[in-house]
Amino acid sequence: MTEMVRKITLSRAVRTMQDLFPVEYNFYPRSWILPEEFPLFVDEVQMMKESDPSWKPTFIVKPDGGCQGDGIYLVKDPSDVRLTGSLQSRPAVVQEYICKPLLVDKLKFDIRLYVLLKSLEPLEIYIAKDGLSRFCTEPYQEPTVKNLHQVFMHLTNYSLNIHSGNFIHSDNANTGSKRTFSSILCRLSSRGADVKKVWSDIISLVIKTIIALTPELKVYYQSDIPAGKPGPTCFQILGFDILLMKNLKPMLLEVNANPSMRIEHEQELSPGVFENVPSPVDEEVKVAVIRDTLRLVDPQKKKRKDIQSQTSEHVSETKDELLDAGPADGLEYDTSKTTEAGLPSLCLKQVFPKYAKQFNYLRLVDKVAALFIRFLGVKGTTKLGPTGFRTFIRNCKLSNSNFSMASVDILYIDITRRWNSMGIDHRESGMCLQAFVEAFFCLAQKKYKSLPLHEQVASLIDFCEYHLAALDEKRLVCGRGILERRSAVATCQTEGLQLTAAAHNTPPKAQSHS
Ligand code: ADP
Repeated sequence: MTEMVRKITLSRAVRTMQDLFPVEYNFYPRSWILPEEFPLFVDEVQMMKESDPSWKPTFIVKPDGGCQGDGIYLVKDPSDVRLTGSLQSRPAVVQEYICKPLLVDKLKFDIRLYVLLKSLEPLEIYIAKDGLSRFCTEPYQEPTVKNLHQVFMHLTNYSLNIHSGNFIHSDNANTGSKRTFSSILCRLSSRGADVKKVWSDIISLVIKTIIALTPELKVYYQSDIPAGKPGPTCFQILGFDILLMKNLKPMLLEVNANPSMRIEHEQELSPGVFENVPSPVDEEVKVAVIRDTLRLVDPQKKKRKDIQSQTSEHVSETKDELLDAGPADGLEYDTSKTTEAGLPSLCLKQVFPKYAKQFNYLRLVDKVAALFIRFLGVKGTTKLGPTGFRTFIRNCKLSNSNFSMASVDILYIDITRRWNSMGIDHRESGMCLQAFVEAFFCLAQKKYKSLPLHEQVASLIDFCEYHLAALDEKRLVCGRGILERRSAVATCQTEGLQLTAAAHNTPPKAQSHS
């Protein structure tokens, strides 16, 4: 999971989905991977500027694997990206900077939402109904060359803003530099904003992001936990960082695999003397997330009473009303049935499979990953060898007079070499999932020329699944035949009879008469 949510991997996974479903995945800023896509970045920006001369973009450069705002800076022009030194040793993502965020008290803020990925297969996702809003400490101004360097104005990271003289430790949910998300929604609601729509959009963003991550996660998962064995079950609490734009559209900034669960903060009592003091806002949100996660993943559902006596409900009624009312267009929280006797109602609400019907059409890469995993062969690997790829092509009947097995090998070598030269994972040789996905898209485009990409890919998946099912059926019939023959041999041998060659193809009963 940690690998999957690194800035580059996440950007790649989302981009694959953007290629298939550009409208559905427009909640992630346009991004480029540095240094390898620097020329593409320059060209695309140039092209966009030419087609819209009024476009005056700003870009944010974020080192891969960085956190807490470390190494992040803003630029107005691609030529300002620091290409020498650090980029070579530490690749980065450069993305369009969202210039018009929603402001509260003239300050930029972002939202940290907790999401429980309870199970991968079947996919089960829960979202916490309250999160944190983390505020900048300098009033926001749209980026100009003069203010680009002001981190307290542009970056919402707690770890940075805590060092600002303006930082206010919150002693309640509605004020200070860290507030509950529900307090922001209450404020927006009182200004007449459609907060149900905001929630609906956020739920949709979370589900779509996880759908983008699951294909590769499954490849890693099967290599660690062999299928069919009652092995360990896993869950993950993810921290989603989301920015609301001025028009209330949520944009995904990043996903954290190891979100901070601290419920205290440091306070300087006298110069140089620090003490950990409770942080009521963190406690209100995080305790509920941990409590509910344990309730949901506890396989034996035990010790309910002990937990009950240790926890108390912090959620105010007004907040519950606001969030539980749920969004208007169908994606809403399920507050019924889930309350267990004596415990506070769940703050984690199931959104998947609850809304599976609305999102399942997006799970195309999941199906491509299932094909990939099928042909991986040896347990424990994450990359496909040339023989596995050839078998995939042969079994799915993808080779023909226009696409010879020699072309198949060239396709394999070309794509695999390129992905491996990007230096992602050198532990194994062979074709990684992303390379396979690229090859699959390539084959789909070749075979179904005039359709949109997602239809081409869906058609090729159907085609492959059809041929593989037919092959499985054939093998089953053959297998049954072999089994029957084996049992016939066993029967004959126990009865001390000799089988003649001719008897091999006749049913067991007839044989016993021969
Ligand atoms: P880190 O992991 O270092 O915190 P983030 O991707 O979360 O990196 O970025 C740090 C901060 O920068 C965010 O909390 C947000 O305030 C700001 N930020 C990041 N990306 C964008 C963007 N595309 N547009 C506007 N602000 C952004």
